[in-house]
Amino acid sequence: MSDTRPGSDVLHLTRELLRIDTTNPPGNEREAAEIALAYARNSGLTGDLHPLDGGRANLHLVLRGKGEQEPIMYCGHLDTVPLGTARWTRPPHAAEVDEDGVLWGRGAVDMKGGLAAMLAGIATLARTGTRPPGDVHFLATAGEEVDCAGARAARDRGLLEGVGGLVIAEPTDLELVVAHKGALFLEFVTHGRAAHGSMPDQGVNAITHMTALLARLSALDLGSVTDPLLGGATTSVGTIRGGSVVNIVPDRCSAQVDLRSVPGVDHAVVLSRIQSMLDELGSTLPGFDAKVAVTGDYAAVGTDPGEPLVQAARDVLEGVLGRPPRISGVSYFSDASVLQPGTGLPTVLCGPGDPNLAHQTDERVHVDALDRAAEFFTLLPLARG
Ligand SMILES: [Zn+2]
Repeated sequence: MSDTRPGSDVLHLTRELLRIDTTNPPGNEREAAEIALAYARNSGLTGDLHPLDGGRANLHLVLRGKGEQEPIMYCGHLDTVPLGTARWTRPPHAAEVDEDGVLWGRGAVDMKGGLAAMLAGIATLARTGTRPPGDVHFLATAGEEVDCAGARAARDRGLLEGVGGLVIAEPTDLELVVAHKGALFLEFVTHGRAAHGSMPDQGVNAITHMTALLARLSALDLGSVTDPLLGGATTSVGTIRGGSVVNIVPDRCSAQVDLRSVPGVDHAVVLSRIQSMLDELGSTLPGFDAKVAVTGDYAAVGTDPGEPLVQAARDVLEGVLGRPPRISGVSYFSDASVLQPGTGLPTVLCGPGDPNLAHQTDERVHVDALDRAAEFFTLLPLARG
């Protein structure tokens, strides 16, 4: 393939990445990061692997610009979710391209295709000696699908310092996403006192107390913020466990709750409201004893569509797609939940592939979409006004 067409080798790089199994857990992202680094070096870029525990690593590199604008950062994750139990039509790590020009594999959409398109875009600029107005950072992270461990390590290392815009290649069908929900994963435990089931007044029923708690939680004010793109915050009870046999009053019950927030909802405020609710239940229900623990904390992300980064992305996509992109919000979270909060950093999500195929059996992406994405990531650094 030609070396000068924007991102012309994105298919080759995507296939190489798909052949490495980076199912998380455990991740094994280092091998994929090494492939991406070798590709970058071939294009004259230099970069660093940042090892994490257990065969894992982030990759960070910078294409130097003219220093006339703040740097932007391209970011994508190297890990993928497990395969699930259903049989795949084509093997998930063979990276086969079918007769219709569709590339199959776990990660084709979420998000090795987008990751490869970003790197191919930067590589095209490097190979052609094109210096954009500002530096372009490329960060490939480990761990996004479980706990954003790689993004946390990158943030703690200070890689975001001085960066003026963040672009994440989650699959959006090359539409533009400027907001996503946050998540607060909570585990509640109620403690009671066991008694014979025929004499419930002798005990304290931990399940009854949990149902009272969950009923109150579903009615709790989570911040009253309604986002124009995302709507309001939500809660969903994911698991509940309690009791052992029918004729013993249960002395313990646990429940996991998935709380999704929107920009403007402060997780610390939500937690203090939940604690007040538990205190209140403790003062009204005899024997009520409950605790809450945070098992995951990912902030919501939102960017004003009037930001220059959004406008530049919109203009480039209009040229690539032949029409203006849709601008929307999504309910899942991304590495931006770790990289963006508190910084006010303008952030957009844009990548190839149907988001409905993410995490699904038979995940696949059209090769044309990879090419268009690489073109977008080549042109975006040149288009920021
Ligand atoms: Zn993803």
